[in-house]
Amino acid sequence: MQYVSTRGHTAGERFRAVLLEGLAPDGGLMVPRRYPRIGSDELGAWRQLAYGDLASNGPTLAFKDLAMQLLGALFQYELGAGSESLNILGATSGDTGSSAEYAMRGRPGIRVFMLSPLGRMSAFQRAQMYSLTDPNIFNIAVEGTFDDCQDLVKQVAADVEFKRRHRLGAVNSINWARIAAQVVYYFRGYFAATTRDADPVSFCVPSGNFGNVLAGWIARTMGLPIDRLIVATNENDVLDEFFRTGRYRVRNRSQTLATSSPSMDISKASNFERFVFDAVDRDPGQVRELASGRIVDPHTADGIKVARQTRREGVPMICLETAQAAKFSETIVEAIGHAPAPTQDMLELLGRAQRFESMAPDASRIRRYIEARTP
Ligand SMILES: *Cc1c(COP(=O)(O)O)cnc(C)c1O
Repeated sequence: MQYVSTRGHTAGERFRAVLLEGLAPDGGLMVPRRYPRIGSDELGAWRQLAYGDLASNGPTLAFKDLAMQLLGALFQYELGAGSESLNILGATSGDTGSSAEYAMRGRPGIRVFMLSPLGRMSAFQRAQMYSLTDPNIFNIAVEGTFDDCQDLVKQVAADVEFKRRHRLGAVNSINWARIAAQVVYYFRGYFAATTRDADPVSFCVPSGNFGNVLAGWIARTMGLPIDRLIVATNENDVLDEFFRTGRYRVRNRSQTLATSSPSMDISKASNFERFVFDAVDRDPGQVRELASGRIVDPHTADGIKVARQTRREGVPMICLETAQAAKFSETIVEAIGHAPAPTQDMLELLGRAQRFESMAPDASRIRRYIEARTP
């Protein structure tokens, strides 16, 4: 199977490259060039397969476990049993960390450096992570929040030279191998709930970074008779809002609430782009347009909407940009949650003293005003 980036700038890559890499070099996410289609014959045969014990919870009682266990085995296989090494740097609010550590513990050539927020995990989660004594597991409790941990990981990983020298890798949910392993959950669940291969089922998925339910979407694309996939969120409802209104309004830190289901406390869903890629018929140009964050003013936006509906295959459509977004920052904030960056000229203009008269809507007042100022 070959893999391509949702932003379209990478040639086909093999599984190994996708496994060890986080984001694609062009900033997109890697997906298979096409998803295999599963016909009714195959579905019937797969129903007979034993998955049994495998489909019970894994070692840390998290749904992430099985995918993570596979990832651990794949890493070790690709690293050649200890001749190469990989250092995994991650941040956890509780569940991902223990799942990753149990999957990687004792594996030659692999070390895990896991940042967790000091004093903010449940007693059980702390016990799961901090009780591990394997020499390749390093728990770092950061005096701060999960967001602080995440930021630290990003800062360290942004140092390309450091990352290369220390062979830093990631196990976060954008890793394709985790998604692929999770597709099996949906087939297994389907077979458990149905007796015939055309019976429809629906799934309701507590969602955070959109990794779990994305696997359901892939299973459905492959031909599993899934009626509805329901995305359940907590108060951090960026995904719920998108599916109800079509607006994807990424939250900032102060808008992200700490809840009793911390694994779903997200400000944006890091796997969402893989779904968007399918939603725009796998057109990387459109994904780039959506991801590039180009902000236009509301008038130009009207034009672009109509242009998208009316353009013809093979004929470039030029949209006239009729104003600048920064002139309408109230509307932009309402639409996307933050203001467009003003230019230096605009800032200078906004800072100037202003001079005007206010007046009642009365024509005689206006006449008098003009008379008084003209000879
Ligand atoms: C990770 C996690 C989620 C969210 O799953 P996503 O794949 O990020 O959507 C929900 N519940 C628990 C317990 C989790 O660990």
